[in-house]
Amino acid sequence: KYALGPKISDWDAQRRRWLAQNPGFPATLAGGKPRIMLVTGSQPGPCDNPLGDHYLLKTTKNKIDYCRLHGIEIVHNLAHLDNELAGYWAKLPLLRRLMLSHPEVEWIWWIDSDALFTDMSFELPLSRYDGHNLIIHGYQDLLFEKHSWIALNTGSFLFRNCQWSLDLLDAWAPMGPKGFIRDQAGKVLTANLKGRPAFEADDQSALIYLLLSQKDKWMDKVFIENSYYLHGFWAGLVDKYEEMMENHHPGLGDERWPFVTHFVGCKPCGSYGDYPVERCLRSMERAFNFADNQVLRLYGFSHKGLESPKIKRFRDQTTRPINDVENLDMKAKISTIS
Ligand code: UDP
Ligand code: MN
Repeated sequence: KYALGPKISDWDAQRRRWLAQNPGFPATLAGGKPRIMLVTGSQPGPCDNPLGDHYLLKTTKNKIDYCRLHGIEIVHNLAHLDNELAGYWAKLPLLRRLMLSHPEVEWIWWIDSDALFTDMSFELPLSRYDGHNLIIHGYQDLLFEKHSWIALNTGSFLFRNCQWSLDLLDAWAPMGPKGFIRDQAGKVLTANLKGRPAFEADDQSALIYLLLSQKDKWMDKVFIENSYYLHGFWAGLVDKYEEMMENHHPGLGDERWPFVTHFVGCKPCGSYGDYPVERCLRSMERAFNFADNQVLRLYGFSHKGLESPKIKRFRDQTTRPINDVENLDMKAKISTIS
């Protein structure tokens, strides 16, 4: 049977020992925040469509900005650590590897390449998750009543670095090996999950199926989040950004100012998406610029419009940048973040 690696069963003790021996790398940062590592990745080769590579760069820039502003470490992976688990399954061996190699990290946060942070001020309410080990966006009723294949979204989720998470990864992985196993497992998933088209097993369906079929074993430690957009489906959001800018402000994270805008069903890099590629690219441009305005603002600039890569200055420069209004935003930023 397929396994992600040699079975580890005393990770909590191993990690505790390591943390005790390495006080220079605490799992909690000064200020009391747990150490977070954001992990994303993309396929090892170039996109079929060169514009796809340009948008991959923008989505990566967006993640670097968010992490820089919030003191989060970031990893961008291009490799397939396990050839059996190529494609969307690649995140599983990667997350396991990073947990084991970084015992100092308390939370490992996966985010898809096609998801953008669109609220640059919002911070995860981590204290709410004491006692939970997997935090994922979704809906309880879609999961346990409807058995829907979109009840949870695996484009953005967090694992606590602990034995429970290694066990969950071990239980999640067996449908992943490409070829016969993944194809056969896809049939099981389509037969059991509402709305699922016929295709090979994907990581999202496999997780939903696992949690449905072994509810008692896992759900105690799973937090299904929907009070803000840990994942937000792009189609309902991208055309409302101007309205949001008119009526609201960053920091809310919900439908008033979505934390994450995820381009599910868009494949600007490959060939077969569910939406026209022009609509996807235009919408990604809007999401990127909406987010980038929140970054540029700190320096006195903004995009000319949500569909323009061009920017304009909105504040005069001064000769006393530290004392004058020029840095007010920066001060506000630093005081809210630290
Ligand atoms: N991914 C990766 N390596 C690959 C293929 C995908 O790291 O070879 C990541 C990438 O971040 C992508 C995510 O896995 O966003 C989910 O894969 P999927 O095929 O569902 O792509 P999406 O539709 O999210 O772009
Ligand atoms: Mn995605």
